Amino acid sequence: MTAQKRFVKSKESLTALMTRYYSENHALAIAGKFVAWIAIIVPVEILKGFDIVVAVPENHAAMCAARGVGASQAERAERLGYSMDLCSYARIDLGTAFANGEGSPSMGLPRPNLVISNTNNCSLLVKWFDIYRREFAIPHFVLDVPFCYEPQRETDREYIIDQFGDLIRFLEKITGQSFDIEKVEEAVRHTDEANAHWKRFLSHAARHPSGITVFDTFIHMAPFITSFRGTPELSRHMKLLADEVEELAENNIVPVPGEKYRLLWDNIAPWHQLRAMSTRLRDLSATICSASYTSCVGTVEGELDCYRYDGGDPLSYLARIQNFSVCPYGMDLRFKVMGETIERLKIDGVVFSSNRSCKPYSLMQMDLERSVKEKYGIPTIMIDVDHADSRKYNESNVFLKLEALIEEIEAGRRA
Ligand code: SF4
Repeated sequence: MTAQKRFVKSKESLTALMTRYYSENHALAIAGKFVAWIAIIVPVEILKGFDIVVAVPENHAAMCAARGVGASQAERAERLGYSMDLCSYARIDLGTAFANGEGSPSMGLPRPNLVISNTNNCSLLVKWFDIYRREFAIPHFVLDVPFCYEPQRETDREYIIDQFGDLIRFLEKITGQSFDIEKVEEAVRHTDEANAHWKRFLSHAARHPSGITVFDTFIHMAPFITSFRGTPELSRHMKLLADEVEELAENNIVPVPGEKYRLLWDNIAPWHQLRAMSTRLRDLSATICSASYTSCVGTVEGELDCYRYDGGDPLSYLARIQNFSVCPYGMDLRFKVMGETIERLKIDGVVFSSNRSCKPYSLMQMDLERSVKEKYGIPTIMIDVDHADSRKYNESNVFLKLEALIEEIEAGRRA
């Protein structure tokens, strides 16, 4: 069986989920439901304690980029005066929102009654969401989550739980609804189950040849960063995905049958290049087995294994996982988890994707690169990518560097 026939059931499930997410949100908003736009990291599970529609602008921007309209939507924002140096997620989202959804595959997102951002990814995100507060004259709630240069401290966890309490009281006030903690607990159980299946799926990167590529992980993380997090639909999808990869393993179906080189990707997915990059890498017998961007899902900062819900206070669990995404980590945590990945997956080389948009993700990559070379003695490259703006990507340059990386791995084997 060819690589194109992999994950047939999971792809069907993914398409159904994502289509439903975008169309249902529009329909519910038209029916008069309260709509909140949230940043990816904001714990959507807390919002399940209310009856509100939740939409995620970053997910919409990534979807626009993957469907080939990221640059044109970003240009709309640039024509309004937003600098091309701003994160492309922000430009795509602003360009779409101020054109009432025109040009977007999903007709954008339903107009919000509230936006909720967080501080632990980047300051740009807070300013981006604040534009909607100003332009749409709606409230903007900012969750203040501390960075973690070391594993989260108990005082920080308590501080975050306090913020959750403020958010809940604020939502009760503006929606007129009563908060239901039992629904949050149920949502946390679904997230926890989905995370465990996700980790089961990711574990197939350790096989030789790898059972998955990073592109599989980029594609199938999509529902995690929507309002499906905290729902049985998400855990069912992740179970299907993990079961399907096990089925593929039993039948010896792998993405790169003649795999010779095992690589690691550092940074956000190059959404506009998924198919082109995966095809060319397969031709080079190279698998990018894993990415920090997708392996962090379901963990706490600096860890690779799933952080399981113990059945206690769901708000405490959600506070503990608030720094799961890579941006808020300090250098030591970034290196720790990267080193563990290199060892577990027997990685031959690392691709550092210097992301023109996401400065917090890219800032410490040169130091990381040096540390990887010093400790593991494996080759690395730094390529220029913008995760959602294809105008800031040069395929020839990137593949020249990827081929050079492979040559360096080969030379090391011959030596
Ligand atoms: S700069 Fe990075 S962390 Fe900030 S919004 Fe863009 S992608 Fe997210």
